[in-house]
Amino acid sequence: MEKTVYFMDARAQHMNHSLAAKVAALFDAAKFQNLFNEGEYVAIKLHMGEYNNTGYLRPVYVRVIAEKIKQYKGIPFVTDTCTLPYTPWAGRTNPIDHLKTAARNGFTAESCGCPIVIADGFGQDDIRVDLPEGIFLKEQYIASGFAMASAVIVLSHFKGHPLGTFGGAIKNIGVGCASQRGKLNLHGGRHPKYGLHTYSYNPILCLGLKCPNAERCMSICPMDAIKIDENGVHWEKEKCIGCTAHLFGTMGCGVFLSLEILDGLETAAIGISDSAKAFMNLVGKENVGFINMAIDVSPWCDCIPWTDVPIVPNIGIFASVGDPVAIDVACLDAITESEGTPNSVAESKDVINAGIPKMAACGSLVGVSENIQIMSAVKNGLGIKEYRLRNVIPQEVPKMEEGGLLPDSGIAGRVLRRLYALKNPLPNPNAEDGGFKRNPNRIDMTEYVER
Ligand code: SF4
Repeated sequence: MEKTVYFMDARAQHMNHSLAAKVAALFDAAKFQNLFNEGEYVAIKLHMGEYNNTGYLRPVYVRVIAEKIKQYKGIPFVTDTCTLPYTPWAGRTNPIDHLKTAARNGFTAESCGCPIVIADGFGQDDIRVDLPEGIFLKEQYIASGFAMASAVIVLSHFKGHPLGTFGGAIKNIGVGCASQRGKLNLHGGRHPKYGLHTYSYNPILCLGLKCPNAERCMSICPMDAIKIDENGVHWEKEKCIGCTAHLFGTMGCGVFLSLEILDGLETAAIGISDSAKAFMNLVGKENVGFINMAIDVSPWCDCIPWTDVPIVPNIGIFASVGDPVAIDVACLDAITESEGTPNSVAESKDVINAGIPKMAACGSLVGVSENIQIMSAVKNGLGIKEYRLRNVIPQEVPKMEEGGLLPDSGIAGRVLRRLYALKNPLPNPNAEDGGFKRNPNRIDMTEYVER
């Protein structure tokens, strides 16, 4: 059995080939309009980018999807969830900061053409889903906002990820649709074997109050489990819920670096697939459409506050219904087969000499296999890895007028005619040269075409 995955490449030589127009074309090719009925709420799930990340998908793609949903009489809303504090800052950890970060990145109700809602409220507005088929998770907490929606269009930026190795459709629903406490669950918070509180640490490396970051380190933990005095750091592990907030801010000093992190990352990769299965069980696979955009394929994800050089040139857009596994495998295969981008980490000598797949080498912090997410997702029944790529040729792109992508300003001549009639932009419309002061002769270009 194979899953059909629709594809359009990233090249564009015409306004109908714009990536925005291609998103609209793939919406129609994959028949997303069949996922919902007139008057029903349709969620557009996406990652709106961390503070100072610049690789996230542009708001125009969301706008196009919202317009397509409205064209078919659905009621769109854009949504994401509260994150764990992966960095020392609160950028998307609560709906207040999340919406501020989203607006800074260009996502507002005005730019998206529909409301933006944080689906898990303050992180604990969720629905518990039993998951006996889960490999790591036996239950998961999915944001309540998705229960409001009759259908979900999952718009994913396909790129690397330090934990899952890659971040695509599986991660967008597995992590992105879990509530904040669901994220704690999949990251192994308080797990007796994999919980962060079980890791060893190196207090001997701590400079105590002499460290310039001591104050920040003490303020990072939401459970107040890290204390620093003149003798060094004290980690009250019994308080730790495994939110990961301290990790990013302490990587440089090595106090909390430990090899046990590898076990935690690999298990969390399985947790992502289990969590994705819980989401699909809740919403119903017949109600979920996936669009993966393999452009700006940065080595790490949009959750970090920077964006590195993409590891491959832009590839294109993929779309399918009901199965996040096949579409992610299609993206992985396309990236693996692609040339690497010069000056990216994919083209570094270490990666090439090691002969490891681009995504595994670039995405993972410590060499977690890119296959864990896929194979665990096959095992728990989330989807299949076999796919048939169906190229949607540019002629199938609907005309701008038909696809609802025509700017609402209308035809330029009609719009500007009245203004130009009242005030001609030429300085002197009656003069033969329009009244502009310029060199009237032909210019010999030979002086300028070489340097
Ligand atoms: S000690 Fe535990 S609860 Fe506190 S910041 Fe670190 S991971 Fe989070």
